[in-house]
Amino acid sequence: METAARTAPAAVIVAIDGPSGTGKSSTSKAVAAKLGLSYLDTGAQYRAITWWMLTNGVDTADAAAVATASAKPAIVSGTDPSAPTITVDGVDASGPIRTQEVTSKVSAVSAVPEVRTRITELQREIAAGAPEGIVVEGRDIGTTVLPDADLKIFLTASPEARAARRSGETKGADVNATKEALIKRDAADSGRKTSPLAKAADAVEVDTTDLTLDQVIECVVTLVEEKRAGK
Ligand code: C5P
Repeated sequence: METAARTAPAAVIVAIDGPSGTGKSSTSKAVAAKLGLSYLDTGAQYRAITWWMLTNGVDTADAAAVATASAKPAIVSGTDPSAPTITVDGVDASGPIRTQEVTSKVSAVSAVPEVRTRITELQREIAAGAPEGIVVEGRDIGTTVLPDADLKIFLTASPEARAARRSGETKGADVNATKEALIKRDAADSGRKTSPLAKAADAVEVDTTDLTLDQVIECVVTLVEEKRAGK
């Protein structure tokens, strides 16, 4: 008789990176839910630490002050893809981390090496604690956080498509202003010294510009299943 360990599918680690507005979060959550995997939104962690800095009077433009404070907040992520959660010092931060103020400051905070070291450690702990496997989405997951991931996906889309999707999510947002803000944030995220937004050499690139969300999900699910089948 086969043992449970031999019949259960092996834990699979999936890294999904790319700039904002490419459908990363929706895709990652849906893929994790379909395959019974955990899910981690690493952008939410960087947003959470940024929110803590703002609410605790730390000047987010002062890298030394941000570095000194970076160990203080307790950031806890819930990894159920159907109901992901994030708390800071025990307080639900899922609403406040999506404000315009946090969005405009998060790139500066996430560029501070001490912040990245702290959050990267948390991410690795969470991934190691997901025995069935996990989908981790971000900017540097395939390159830095989990370089040994079983599957690495890099999502892209035209700036126009990304801005249209993002302004659709934010009621009344102006598409041109959203596009400018996205381009500025991507440039900051791609240009920083410590683990910038980048495609890993062994990542599969998927251009989502002309694909529906369902098509992107199907594409990634197929890639994970092929990996699991050892193809
Ligand atoms: O994915 P989201 O847009 O919520 O990410 C917010 C910000 O967090 C990004 O613009 C980037 O500055 C930072 N981030 C990062 N590394 C990650 C994920 C997000 O630096 N792995």
